Amino acid sequence: VCMYDFVLGACEKNDSKLMASFEMHKKAFTFGEMHNEAGRIAAGLFNLGIRPGDRVAVWGPNQPEWLVMKWACARAGFEMVNINPLYTTRELEYALEKVDAKMLVCPKTIGPLNYHAKVQEFIPNLAEQDRFSLNIPSVPTLKKIVYYSSPEAEAGTFQWSELEQAGSDADLKSINEMKVDPHSIANIQFTSGTTGMPKAASLSHFNLTNNAISLTRALNVIEPSLNENTSFLNVLPLYHVFSFVGGSLSGAYNCVPNIYPAPGFNSAASIQACANQKCTFLLGTPTMFTDIVNDPTRADHDISSLKYAIVGGAPATPALVRKANQELGVKMTVGYGMTENSCATFLTPPGSTEDVTCNTVGFPIPGVDAKIIDDEENTLEKGQIGELVTKGFVLFQGYVKDEAKTKESYTKDGYWKTGDLALVRDDGTLQISGRSKDMIIRGGENIQPTEIENFIATHDKVVDCYVIGVPSSRLGEEVAAYIQLKDDTVTSEDIVEFCKEGLARYKIPKYIKFTSEFPKTVTGKIQKYLLRDQAVNDFP
Ligand code: ATP
Ligand code: MG
Repeated sequence: VCMYDFVLGACEKNDSKLMASFEMHKKAFTFGEMHNEAGRIAAGLFNLGIRPGDRVAVWGPNQPEWLVMKWACARAGFEMVNINPLYTTRELEYALEKVDAKMLVCPKTIGPLNYHAKVQEFIPNLAEQDRFSLNIPSVPTLKKIVYYSSPEAEAGTFQWSELEQAGSDADLKSINEMKVDPHSIANIQFTSGTTGMPKAASLSHFNLTNNAISLTRALNVIEPSLNENTSFLNVLPLYHVFSFVGGSLSGAYNCVPNIYPAPGFNSAASIQACANQKCTFLLGTPTMFTDIVNDPTRADHDISSLKYAIVGGAPATPALVRKANQELGVKMTVGYGMTENSCATFLTPPGSTEDVTCNTVGFPIPGVDAKIIDDEENTLEKGQIGELVTKGFVLFQGYVKDEAKTKESYTKDGYWKTGDLALVRDDGTLQISGRSKDMIIRGGENIQPTEIENFIATHDKVVDCYVIGVPSSRLGEEVAAYIQLKDDTVTSEDIVEFCKEGLARYKIPKYIKFTSEFPKTVTGKIQKYLLRDQAVNDFP
């Protein structure tokens, strides 16, 4: 099926049910309202010359217009390109050029972020241009720009209100008559850029809808955690698959609402939105859970409506899973996945044992086949660490304009190489040991940073901890830890003493630096390649 069929299905069941609420904007949509608004915007895009298969780039944080654009594109078969709201001009230009975008849609300004100023950096003469047919040497395909979140018009661009009104009855009729092919591309999704420059992954309607369907099944294996009474508290950025597929698309499939607290992540706003809307199911990354759990405003609000939560996108320490379970009164589920697999591929079903939830990412969701391989692509036995590879209807359609990279990301027998190291336990659950690029090899000994991070995180003064390998002339690499503390009552010697209780000698960090800031992506993923650059100065 196509993505939009879920909205139609929800409308058939009950079109006056809440679909989305943007709390900070005080703007909500029922399924019926979203259907109408998506139709209007799709007709407006059609009127401005966008046709099925054309690429429309949307660049911005969680705002009502973002979601409307997504569903408008899905409805008409336009390929939506999600662009990270924090991109600089250079990254934006790279992304638009990479995907041959025809149109750019973004807020003009939002808070301190001035998107218009960034656009002007690569189109300095925008105001003098014909807004129907821009001429931009660095992105020749880009012909139109639409701004939202600003009442003032800007020369050279279109306003959102114009887009809303541009579509005629005939345009809407054309949209309604369109047959979208389930195997066509719905979404070009940039990866998070955790390990380097983001890659543009193509995802079809078939990929995305199957992920949402399988995810729903996986969430209901042991107990019906996702049902018609569910209400998602979606604190993740919509531009990322976890937020859109895990939240909005699964929500539409199940006819349940998503509550979006604020344009950017904000723990206090998330807590307040949860209390106001009586949300039952929280979706977030480990960093977001850490912030919500530690937020003092939690005491002022009743968030007892929360029953379930799903954490994913980056490793969650067992200490965090336990703490979130206790403090938020939820049953935590851990989800593991990636952009190129359309969102989740593994999940610990709600109601799993504490051991499974704290130490593994559970089982493959229905329709995903996976195995662990060595460097020669031989399949490994249970208990052996190797690279995780996956197969199934969630696998993407390739990296845009990068056949070589697409090809090298597959094994000879057609599995997709995740770049993550993992092992299968005796009970069949998967344990992730980390990214292969992050593994530390010290004196010939392989060390998984996550094991050290998980242990240090159990120290009651530690808020956050990341471990990397730094070059050593004698041993190849040495272990270094960057640690964020609650207060300054702990020294590096204390941490080393603490590590002696639970880590073999060679795993104990030789270098420790206390810090309050880490290089992270928008979703709070640690960018260890930047940390390794930093370490050259920190531990010379
Ligand atoms: P890039 O590919 O640009 O470097 P990225 O891999 O972080 O960025 P995503 O597709 O957003 O981009 O993230 C997928 C990766 O996130 C996985 O390959 C894995 O390393 C990590 N990940 C996701 N969920 C989990 C989890 N529950 N536990 C451990 N790691 C996870
Ligand atoms: Mg990746």
